[in-house]
Amino acid sequence: MKDNFITAIIDAQQATSRSVQTRFPPEPNGYLHIGHAKSICLNFGIAARYAGQCLLRFDDTNPETARAKYAQAIAEDLRWLGFASAAPSRYASDYFAHLHASAVQLIEAGLAYVDTLSGAQLREYRGSLTTPGKESPDRNRSVAENLELFRRMSAGEFAPGACVLRAKIDMNSPNLHLRDPVLYRIRTQPHYRVGTRWKVFPLYDFTQCLSDAVEGVTHSLCTLEFEDNRPLYEWFLEKLQIPDPRPQQIEFARLKLNGTVVSKRLLTQLVDGGHVRGWDDPRMPTLRGLRRRGCPAEAIREFCAKIGLTKKDTTIDIQLLENCMREELDRTAPRAMAVLEPLRVVIENYPDGQEDSLPAANHPADAGFGERQLPFSREVYIERTDFMEQPPARYRRLAPGREVRLRYAYLLQCTGVEHDVHGRVVLVRGRIDPDSRGGRAPDGRKVRGTLHWVSAQHALEAEVRLYQPLFTDSDPTALGEQWLQALTPDSLQSGRAWLEPGLTAAPPGQVYQFERLGYFCADPDGSPQRPVYNRTVTLRDSWRPPG
Ligand code: ATP
Ligand code: MG
Repeated sequence: MKDNFITAIIDAQQATSRSVQTRFPPEPNGYLHIGHAKSICLNFGIAARYAGQCLLRFDDTNPETARAKYAQAIAEDLRWLGFASAAPSRYASDYFAHLHASAVQLIEAGLAYVDTLSGAQLREYRGSLTTPGKESPDRNRSVAENLELFRRMSAGEFAPGACVLRAKIDMNSPNLHLRDPVLYRIRTQPHYRVGTRWKVFPLYDFTQCLSDAVEGVTHSLCTLEFEDNRPLYEWFLEKLQIPDPRPQQIEFARLKLNGTVVSKRLLTQLVDGGHVRGWDDPRMPTLRGLRRRGCPAEAIREFCAKIGLTKKDTTIDIQLLENCMREELDRTAPRAMAVLEPLRVVIENYPDGQEDSLPAANHPADAGFGERQLPFSREVYIERTDFMEQPPARYRRLAPGREVRLRYAYLLQCTGVEHDVHGRVVLVRGRIDPDSRGGRAPDGRKVRGTLHWVSAQHALEAEVRLYQPLFTDSDPTALGEQWLQALTPDSLQSGRAWLEPGLTAAPPGQVYQFERLGYFCADPDGSPQRPVYNRTVTLRDSWRPPG
């Protein structure tokens, strides 16, 4: 964890030798996304830097949305990201008895009351930033009455919405969060962990603050939109007489990425609306999507380290994440050969039926990756874009009369072309230099370029999926309700590729660099007979500054 404004705060406190404990508190109502990764890296990074602990706490207070499958998936994604072993799990629902007792304590202190205003009335009485709030007629009930009503609420005697428990703070506060916020509401739906035992459920602010206190969290890090909730957080700590050292809430800017959305609510709409194939669609900024696309966990951690931490909202360019992928994959992905748009080359001086097996390095810069054997035969496929019949002078690929290197194989000279009735090149004829086996010129002569290729007879046909950013607009949320209009029409393009035969057995998740084309990841949709590969990222940043 590099220095940032939060480490500066903690460093200043170290003089008083405060220990450090943090938490990552997801709601188990969806899957983790890259924004959560920022929070995870921060919370675990801070704990590690100060030899403290970070807990994974499921904020499972809403029985309508909390699900076991999400909690499981979150724990799994956290493990994948590389943090699980350091993260014992806690559940806010484990604290329900304690939270309930704390609510009773507030009632007894005359600091909370049961209110029978309807939802609409609650909103109306709350006022706005420009108009003061109005006190509810129920605000001055006696403590005894409130205790009895809360007991009956908790026993399931009232229907949802019939009443709520509110803190009694200040209906005229300029801070809307302090205008007698709701602490508890009635819910009849069974909770996935505690079943029907509870009929009342605590709300976010009350739960976060008290869960932090129970767990001994010292620094409660959350995103900027909770800045105005901080006085309420501190009000609970004070009124419930939580002993020092009390947890301290510190806010930081949430991650925004251009070309996508980073909010569970919006991501849910993309899935439910069928705009993507699921939560793990490689176009999604979810950890599952990124993983399926082939993004290594290390690249996400590096990205989070690079973007740093601020108190001001900024939008990060998605290219930065892609560059982190490239850097990581350049080191870790074995090389392979595949042709996306094949052009057949017939090698006239290589006998029909003859085969050769040529050694090829799996990584140009790391011998530890070893070698593999590539089959070679009379007909090979090269990339259609690697041939031009009338090339410009500086063209460095194949053209009539020109010589290039087939990587790891031979030097090849083009001796002729064949066209179809429309004049399109359908076949290239050529001759290899038999003394150039391995791609080395016997006399040291220079050739213009090196091409990737596959043996036509041995190549395996695969599906490749190429992805564009989900949104054409850098910030679709700026369009408000119209945000879906900014969806890229064909953000998934499915095509074919011809692969070197060794790639058939790749396990899903294995990433290769297809030489000169990009990084590609084997997808679970594939089979040995028909592999499917997702393009993780191109080799180079295709973006250029305008103008
Ligand atoms: P969303 O807005 O996507 O629904 P959330 O805040 O409701 O996110 P939680 O499961 O409550 O989702 O989030 C768990 C933690 O992750 C919180 O502490 C939250 O502040 C943090 N977090 C969520 N989104 C981001 C983001 N984009 N950048 C940084 N931290 C985030
Ligand atoms: Mg939330």
